[in-house]
Amino acid sequence: MLDRSCAWVSERDDGRGALRVATPRSIRIPEGRARSILELACGAGVDASCTVWWVGGGVRDLLRGEGNLDLDLVVEGDMDAFLDAFVARSGGAVVSRSRFLTARLRLAGERLDVARARQERYPAPGALPVVAEGTVLDDLGRRDFSVNAMAISVAPELGARFLDPHDGRRDLVARQLRILHPGSFEDDPTRILRAIDFAARFGFALEPGTEAEARSILAAGGLLRLSPRRRGAALERMLGRPRTAVLALDLAQELGALHAIDTGLRWDAETRFRLIRSLSALERESGAAAAATNCFLLTVLILAENDDLKLPARLAGSLSLHRGSATIVAELRERSAEAMRLGPRSRASHAHRCLRSLHEVELARLAALREDLESWVRRENETMRPLRLTISGDDLRRRGVVEGPHLGRALLRTLDARLDGEIAATGELAFALAVASESRSES
Ligand code: ATP
Repeated sequence: MLDRSCAWVSERDDGRGALRVATPRSIRIPEGRARSILELACGAGVDASCTVWWVGGGVRDLLRGEGNLDLDLVVEGDMDAFLDAFVARSGGAVVSRSRFLTARLRLAGERLDVARARQERYPAPGALPVVAEGTVLDDLGRRDFSVNAMAISVAPELGARFLDPHDGRRDLVARQLRILHPGSFEDDPTRILRAIDFAARFGFALEPGTEAEARSILAAGGLLRLSPRRRGAALERMLGRPRTAVLALDLAQELGALHAIDTGLRWDAETRFRLIRSLSALERESGAAAAATNCFLLTVLILAENDDLKLPARLAGSLSLHRGSATIVAELRERSAEAMRLGPRSRASHAHRCLRSLHEVELARLAALREDLESWVRRENETMRPLRLTISGDDLRRRGVVEGPHLGRALLRTLDARLDGEIAATGELAFALAVASESRSES
């Protein structure tokens, strides 16, 4: 049976075996373990008479001295035979396959993307490519930037060990991102957003010709030719990291990419400051590895806060946001209106009622607005949300409280009293019994 995630593997796969929205970010493997998996792949390649290459971001990151690596393999030869041989040697499993000649393998907790070496053709700018079997050089030639177009042979005895047909190593040293041919951004405008993401993450610049090309495709509305789903997924990738989203936005604004997505998106000094504060609230409340989707969603919320009341709904459509995210974006003002009225002297029980149903990105946004809200959000996360009564309805029933609305009311009032510090855990039962009898006599 296929893993549940396969539903979106095929749905989201854009022809490169790279997964989009709602996926955990690529799983990086420590170098030592990566080496032993590559040895398994090497054996499987020999068994299946295939040439196997390690390609893409993993090779780039190896050369950049990263300790944790992505394993993307490209196979020249019979990919089915390679997959069978790999599964037989490793005890792993093929968890998904796509019509784009890609497959994903799972091995213990690790993930490995495998693709048949491919060549491609774009039927129309911005459309998905038509792919066909090709050589590893074809495969490298269809990639986004020279630094991502290098390959290392997994079975060195079969031939050349390192392929760098587009001078990626030179660009790594020069710390620049360079497209492989002038039409690259026109073929696939998501590459512009990828360039911004890489530039922000690695501190790289866009090579002048690449930058000029990006500006001209953006000015010509290239991003609007993408389907909403691809546009949203590429933007999520670019804005999904709390540590680099702000830098990415600076560059996106400078290149005209934000304007090209929606003229209502606002990126000025005040928005920048608010985003930095909100992202650090998100990181503080959700941990350093705040989910990419939440980071993206929070960023969209902040960028969309202006007088254009139709903007949230427009973005939900033009970025094809998931239903839950779209609701949060579109209903933000309404959902957080009551929480906005909280103040330092509000009752904790009231604050909990205002905050308890809000999503973590809404909480992070509120926390960045005012200090008193920040302290309510902290209390909500740290003490109020986790608070559980030590008594239950059964305890009340055992003490003679008959079933009815007053029983639930008594428990709720007891929770309020705990939140407001009026009683301790040891006083819950007596308090709840008193409330139950009071509200029963009232009704
Ligand atoms: P990271 O995972 O660190 O963000 P990556 O380079 O591994 O970076 P992926 O999205 O996993 O990024 O893509 C893997 C490889 O596939 C890239 O290195 C690149 O060679 C190729 N690739 C991905 N998307 C595109 C694209 N839109 N156009 C051309 N090549 C692409």
